Amino acid sequence: MDKKILELIEKLENTHSLTLDEYEYLITNKTDEAAEILAEKARAVREKHYGKAVYIRGLIEIGNICKNDCLYCGIRRGNRNCDRYRLTETEILECADEGYNLGFRTFVMQGGEDGSFSDEFMCSVIKKLKAKYPDCAVTLSIGERSRESYEKLFTAGADRFLLRHETADKEHYEKLHPKELSFDNRMECLKNLKEIGFQTGCGFMVGSPFQTNRHIAKDLKFIEEFRPQMCGIGPFIPHKDTPFRDYPAGTAEMTCYLLSIIRLIHPKILLPATTALGTIMNGGREKGILSGANVVMPNLSPVSVRKKYMLYNGKISTGDEAAEAVNNLAKSMKKIGFEVVTDRGDFKK
Ligand code: SAH
Repeated sequence: MDKKILELIEKLENTHSLTLDEYEYLITNKTDEAAEILAEKARAVREKHYGKAVYIRGLIEIGNICKNDCLYCGIRRGNRNCDRYRLTETEILECADEGYNLGFRTFVMQGGEDGSFSDEFMCSVIKKLKAKYPDCAVTLSIGERSRESYEKLFTAGADRFLLRHETADKEHYEKLHPKELSFDNRMECLKNLKEIGFQTGCGFMVGSPFQTNRHIAKDLKFIEEFRPQMCGIGPFIPHKDTPFRDYPAGTAEMTCYLLSIIRLIHPKILLPATTALGTIMNGGREKGILSGANVVMPNLSPVSVRKKYMLYNGKISTGDEAAEAVNNLAKSMKKIGFEVVTDRGDFKK
């Protein structure tokens, strides 16, 4: 076993910080043994703050109409084969009703950047959700908006916002996005969200096209310094109707290795074992939990739209009823010694 790796893991555990070069070294020299040591430490830290609880978030995919043309994403504007939909307010509230009965106390509304998801529309849904379910948290994942818009959503009652930074390297960002989208604006949005008071989540894809270990090191350094309350990472998975159709997918192994590192950087962070991780590997979400994650986000969208919200090929549980999915999840978590709980699962300060 490389002595330097052991030293770096120890430094990370004790100081929650490494230099860019050190993060890169940790990634480049990853071995199964290093992964196991990191996972073990990550589990211990996670358990100290969150016990054996696994928080569930009910994901409501509110629509796949998008004005953006991100090169990796299956619901990009340019994909003519994507069958577009948008849920109505009533449909969204019905998803939440079902979710509440299944024990969900967080609802995540995610969707493409669709002009119809105006401040007026979103604020109305948020207010209705919060009035009906005051014991629930509302999370949004609806992309880049103005500071004023984010303020309105927050005032209406939204608690959290997920906006992956996608990559912390500007040049890399420009290779993954069309020129209308800017790295600086994405970062500005994240800064605004956090300042406004949202529990804020950033994140990135593991193994996205052109990604180097240096880029990942920068992602980790960014996460360290930005201090998000949540962080979503999952493997890149190609979608057949995008320009990145022929690029290889990221791996579950690297994703889990990074989950462990992120847990050690921010011991209390809310860290999901993502759907993409469960898609790339059988039992991927369980492996994610065993690597230090503490959140899973089962799908609450109406079964009729599941297949339409196809960000990448092979996305799991596109046919399952929510109830069935939650049941199976609870069982598989129990098997590995964890417990799905009915709880808002807020960030612990
Ligand atoms: N429009 C919202 C939600 C985007 S979808 C927003 O801009 O934030 C949520 C996340 O799915 C994205 O941030 C991206 O990181 C991830 N994603 C998109 N396409 C993917 C793919 N092909 N493989 C893996 N993850 C993907």
